[in-house]
Amino acid sequence: MTDGYVTSTIVSGRTYAVRHLPLLDQLAEVIEPSAGIGADGRRIPASAPPARIDALDRYMAITYGVAVRLSGSGVRLASDLKVNMRRLVGVSWDIYELRSLDRDAVRWLTWCRVLTGWDSPPFTPNAKCPACGMRGTLRVRLDRRTACCVEPSCDAVWDTSTIDALGDHIRATNGQPEPLRIVATSSV
Ligand SMILES: [Zn+2]
Repeated sequence: MTDGYVTSTIVSGRTYAVRHLPLLDQLAEVIEPSAGIGADGRRIPASAPPARIDALDRYMAITYGVAVRLSGSGVRLASDLKVNMRRLVGVSWDIYELRSLDRDAVRWLTWCRVLTGWDSPPFTPNAKCPACGMRGTLRVRLDRRTACCVEPSCDAVWDTSTIDALGDHIRATNGQPEPLRIVATSSV
């Protein structure tokens, strides 16, 4: 989350390495996109406002979660979230704190994976979240096979091992076709 990473993409039989910003920077980029300038000189927002609000909300939740843990263990807070996140690693947690931190870290990572994207906001199905029952709060990133709920009181996340169960739930509760198929047909 705090360091850049490289993925490989195969195009026409050739492998290209794609360098990505740290996931936290990608999340910040969704909140405050480095907008392009239109022909009339105005800034063109690179991301739709609802996606930005989701990203801002989760960024604040991560900032808060990291700050609470650090200040609870007497570590001085820096103003940079990534610095604070790295400081989490230097604290000697007991086994229960470590398990809880591990669960939170998985959640934070999933939020970043779902809410950041290079070209499109995440898929928002018109279905209720199976964890909190709120409608329209699910955000699904089909290309990364991850999903999360953005309801502030709900911390539900799905990864590659649980995303299929969420897909079944979405189909069963809103009668929509399989979300994978929606994306597949719209991208042709
Ligand atoms: Zn929920």
